[in-house]
Amino acid sequence: MSEGIVTASYVGATILFILALGGLSNQETSRRGNLFGIVGMSIALIAAFAQVTDNFFILIIALLIGGSVGLILAKRVQMTEMPELVAILHSLVGLAAVLVGYANFMAPATLTGTELTIHEIETYIGILIGAVTFSGSIIAFGKLSGKIGGNPLLLPARHWLNLGLLIISIVLCGMFVNQAATGGGLTPLLIMTGIALLFGIHMVMAIGGADMPVVVSMLNSYSGWAASATGFMLSNDLLIVTGALVGSSGAILSYIMCRAMNRKFLSVIAGGFGTTTGGSPADAGDVDQGEVVALEAPEVASLLTEAKEVMIIPGYGMAVAQAQHIVCDITKTLKKKKINVRFGIHPVAGRMPGHMNVLLAEAKVPYDIVYEMDEINDDFPNIDVSIVIGANDIVNPSALTDPNSPIAGMPVLECWKGKTTVVLKRGMATGYAGVQNPLFFEENTRMLFGNAKTTLEGVAQALKE
Ligand code: NDP
Repeated sequence: MSEGIVTASYVGATILFILALGGLSNQETSRRGNLFGIVGMSIALIAAFAQVTDNFFILIIALLIGGSVGLILAKRVQMTEMPELVAILHSLVGLAAVLVGYANFMAPATLTGTELTIHEIETYIGILIGAVTFSGSIIAFGKLSGKIGGNPLLLPARHWLNLGLLIISIVLCGMFVNQAATGGGLTPLLIMTGIALLFGIHMVMAIGGADMPVVVSMLNSYSGWAASATGFMLSNDLLIVTGALVGSSGAILSYIMCRAMNRKFLSVIAGGFGTTTGGSPADAGDVDQGEVVALEAPEVASLLTEAKEVMIIPGYGMAVAQAQHIVCDITKTLKKKKINVRFGIHPVAGRMPGHMNVLLAEAKVPYDIVYEMDEINDDFPNIDVSIVIGANDIVNPSALTDPNSPIAGMPVLECWKGKTTVVLKRGMATGYAGVQNPLFFEENTRMLFGNAKTTLEGVAQALKE
């Protein structure tokens, strides 16, 4: 393929990636966005493939192995395990950047003078970001999958430790560039890689469970910058641009999520949030908050039949129970009864951004009755019945009332301001942040205990009778 066609293909792929990102920002256009992304990536792969002159056979074998592993994983993974999958995939991007960096370092130098220095710095930064992304993503995977405890690991003087590691990395960069000019530099590069791996582990270990969504999106951003750095090393414009797109969109998403949780990005990175050793979270579960009032499915059905305005608030438990289809059925039945049903979606409901929107779209819930938290939070005083399906932290009033709560300041769906709230969950377990929820003990709250899918099937049955 001629150089001109390759360049044109890269420009086309870049435009398609930008269109993909634009499409994915809205659930109505997300399907189209995905399609743009697939076409863009196919064009990019073909163009990159066409440039390869040696080792064609090895490349095909590698593509087949990687593609098959990806396909099997994507087919097997449950929706609730998506964040773990995303985290482990980020680790592969980081690892690729490290390996490309070393391969680049070992390849015979064709550059001299300033160009060589710039190239060595690119290699150094690429390996540094890649190693941090690699080890950080593995720890994030461990935390999200429950293989590593969610509590933050807070070493004494940890900020000084991080600063020290940063200063050592900068000094090592100087040593690397000097030594690389005369054909050396492997020792500082190896030491820096070790430091970067430790830094990635330490950075994510220090972050508590409740901040993991931000960490995943932050690592997404890092993996983008790692890919971009790889693009510089390989002088591949498409990789530079695509990496920058992933890096900046991940950073913007992290910022949006921090705003949704009322957290400062820097304080998330500094870690420590979601601790159960800080007093409040563990205590909250121990304090006697009173009695809860439990209902049976037919009683919930009658509450719904008598209502005019219903708000459904889905959370992580809806994903676990796979209750989205029965929720959609109930919505249709209520609409037939001329009851206005809407959905209120918290930006960090579930375990990944957009988790609830994806499930509701899969069940074919119409988009126009699905609202973001900011759009509907003021409407709760007019709501007759709010149905909270497997959600906990995102409807916890203590986020607004208890300054010592680990989720203090996080905006929540204020369903307790409505007439009646019905909470569907299996028992009195806490949510992701590990804090008890005073909502369950409010005077106008009713509990419907059981697996959400089973209890909702009971409600649907009673509604039809
Ligand atoms: P929570 O994790 O706070 O609560 C989920 C609730 O669902 C639990 O209390 C559980 O109670 C209940 N549940 C679990 N399984 C079932 C089931 N089969 N049937 C019925 N109920 C069930 O979820 P939220 O969505 O309210 O909040 C999300 C939390 O996750 C936030 O703290 C957020 O910061 C965090 N997070 C968000 C991410 C994101 O990007 N969205 C990513 C990672 C973390 P019980 O066991 O008693 O049934």
